Amino acid sequence: MSQEIKKYWQNYIDGEWVDAADGERIVIENPATAEPLAEVARAGAADVDRAVAAARRCFNSRELYNMRPTNRGALMFEIARHMTEMADEIALAECLDNGKTLTGGKNEALAAARYFTYYGGLADKLEGRMIPLGADYVDYTIPSPFGVSAQIVPWNFPLQIAARSVACALATANTVVLKSPELSPLSTYFIAEACHRAGVPKGAVNILCGYGHDCGASLVSHADVDHIVFTGSLKTGQFILRAAAERVLPCVMELGGKSAGIVFKDANMDQVINSAAAGIFSNAGQVCSAQSRLVVPKNMEAEILDRLAAKANSLSVGPGIYGNDITPVISAGQADKIHAMCAAASQAGAEAVAGGGRADRTGHFIQPTIFGSVTPDMTIAQEEVFGPVLSVVTYEEVEEAISIANGTDYGLCAGLYTKDLATAHWVADRLDAGQVFVNEWFAGGIETPFGGMKRSGYGREKGQEALLNYVQTKNVGIRITDGGGGRPGG
Ligand code: NAD
Repeated sequence: MSQEIKKYWQNYIDGEWVDAADGERIVIENPATAEPLAEVARAGAADVDRAVAAARRCFNSRELYNMRPTNRGALMFEIARHMTEMADEIALAECLDNGKTLTGGKNEALAAARYFTYYGGLADKLEGRMIPLGADYVDYTIPSPFGVSAQIVPWNFPLQIAARSVACALATANTVVLKSPELSPLSTYFIAEACHRAGVPKGAVNILCGYGHDCGASLVSHADVDHIVFTGSLKTGQFILRAAAERVLPCVMELGGKSAGIVFKDANMDQVINSAAAGIFSNAGQVCSAQSRLVVPKNMEAEILDRLAAKANSLSVGPGIYGNDITPVISAGQADKIHAMCAAASQAGAEAVAGGGRADRTGHFIQPTIFGSVTPDMTIAQEEVFGPVLSVVTYEEVEEAISIANGTDYGLCAGLYTKDLATAHWVADRLDAGQVFVNEWFAGGIETPFGGMKRSGYGREKGQEALLNYVQTKNVGIRITDGGGGRPGG
């Protein structure tokens, strides 16, 4: 397969591929080599205006809304078919601009396609309710779309995250302006290409790339946007919520996490070690739902640290294109930040039993790192690292383990390892997290609702629940008689 990709990528607005209004571009880097890879048109406020106007025109035309929902679903199946056909091309783009392996990139493409089939299949199943008010009335509810949905996507899984919100918006007849992440935008353009090939109405889906402070800020504060879906950091989420408050816009907030798995004495240790590795080293730890803390019984700490260190040291670190286990982090800035957090943890008394910072090679690589001797209050155990760095914390009593797991500002995911179902149920019920994994980190899929508690945000993506974020209930109450119990003319 050729390893060449297009050198210049345009924005997709109103059914056309276009340059930025002012002709500006952003240079995209390959994180595995730290070299320039391609350029993308850099959208600014004028491009946002144009995209929002196109989305508004399409929404007001009611073309999507008036379609029989089953036909809207069929259109989404077509989008999925085109995404699947382009899966190898997508995999290469995702590998080169994001750092993933080719297999990881292809999985992204196929998962993105599945979002369109999953939500396409639900397009004709979102129903209103008939509410009995006696013989003189007919009363019913309509799940109504909001209008123009502004969607902002982070760089760690840009394609899947974009696909999940675009698919929900189309299934519910909203129109979309999506800003892709400036560090890794290429794969999201394939959603636009698939929509174009499938014959999605012009203006229904617009995808542009620009910087957050410029393009992103213009989009979320635009006067003609009706709804915001944001996935990214807590800090940016708070900024967007302040902008949304001005216009009382509904928002879905998918923010960060500092998720913990609790190990019980009866756990299957192979399962714990494999799950811990998958939970923190997948995508070089750049996963909002990463298992970045492992809470273990005090008297098992030494054994677990030994096994985790052996696992971490067995992993290969290098470019995704060669199928390595630990692929690069997205940028020099991220690598610097992670390295500094590791250095500060060591300074604070944590002990790196594997790794401990930047890997000694070209590109933005961090060694798979395991910290022992971590106390729950240390910064490394409280703040999101967003890299391949696991903190192991110890407990003596179950209540203490639960309080450690719940003891951060975040509440995205949590997990536990035990063979005892009563313990699993009791503990799961007490964990402050939107998703709890038992005996396998990341157990779940597109069908299972995902989202945060506390400062990890609100609203749910994935699963049937997600569609409820994209509609508002309208109630229609009709007086059908002049009185008289519903007799015609009565
Ligand atoms: P980020 O908040 O820096 O950027 C996310 C997006 O917001 C980017 O597209 C960026 O351009 C844009 N942005 C930045 N400033 C903006 C502004 N002022 N106005 C509007 N848009 C702006 O986050 P990131 O570093 O790209 O991603 C990592 C974060 O995302 C982590 O905290 C991670 O946990 C979180 N995340 C959450 C989920 C989830 O589903 N909960 C999934 C993936 C990532």
